Amino acid sequence: MTRRRWIADTWSPSTGHPTHAALTGEQAQHLARVLRAQPGQIFDVVANGFLHRAEVVGVTDSEVSFMLLEELESDGALPIHLLLAVFKYDHFEWAVEKATELGVARITPVLARRTEKHLSQAAAKRAERWRRIALEAAKQSRRTDMPEIAEPVKLDAALKAETAPLRILLSEVEQSVSLVSALAQFNQNQASSNQQLALAIGPEGGWTSDEMALFTQYQWTHVTLGPRILRAETAAIAALAICGAQIQQVS
Ligand code: SAH
Repeated sequence: MTRRRWIADTWSPSTGHPTHAALTGEQAQHLARVLRAQPGQIFDVVANGFLHRAEVVGVTDSEVSFMLLEELESDGALPIHLLLAVFKYDHFEWAVEKATELGVARITPVLARRTEKHLSQAAAKRAERWRRIALEAAKQSRRTDMPEIAEPVKLDAALKAETAPLRILLSEVEQSVSLVSALAQFNQNQASSNQQLALAIGPEGGWTSDEMALFTQYQWTHVTLGPRILRAETAAIAALAICGAQIQQVS
């Protein structure tokens, strides 16, 4: 039987393999009031990225604490950083949820030239909501970790900060290089090192030519997902599904 999985808010010791963990805030309230957790009950709890069988040892409305009994085998995220241009919030939230289900490790909301002004201005305030959506999606999809949702940044800052050795720009104007062919390079090198992959998806109006030039300057590979123009959220989901399949083939 698969138990519902909880992602701890705090744990101790705080580094390495924890022995105790706790849920606080809304998660604790839900567990205490709605699910009426009792000491002695067993749950699956993720703490510091490790999945455990865990026994409830204390319950209040603000904190449910656990003793971690044994470590279980867990499934890590894909080593993918998604740079997702901010677009209409309802579609963006959907993309955050689906990208989390598909295993993305990190999402950076990018303020692109064609991100609508009012969305750009309000994006920083939205980050907390996007984190809550990611947490729910991580639990629902039984991930052992939650993707990091970074603070929204402008494109040039995001490109400057990117350290992944393979960087892929999804471009609706690219005609020849496919995502699968760009990933072949990743698979060849993956065996020898712990490689990271960065993927960038543009806003509803696409990237401007200046932005595309900036990607080229930072040596991003431009790739196509085929001749049809996809909505940004569709492109994000398709790209992550393809990467997941390609990356898992070698592991
Ligand atoms: N400028 C477009 C729409 C952009 S689609 C228009 O004609 O209206 C939004 C984003 O989704 C793009 O910036 C790109 O990152 C991605 N995308 C959409 N279709 C794609 C395709 N066929 N191949 C690669 N990326 C695509």
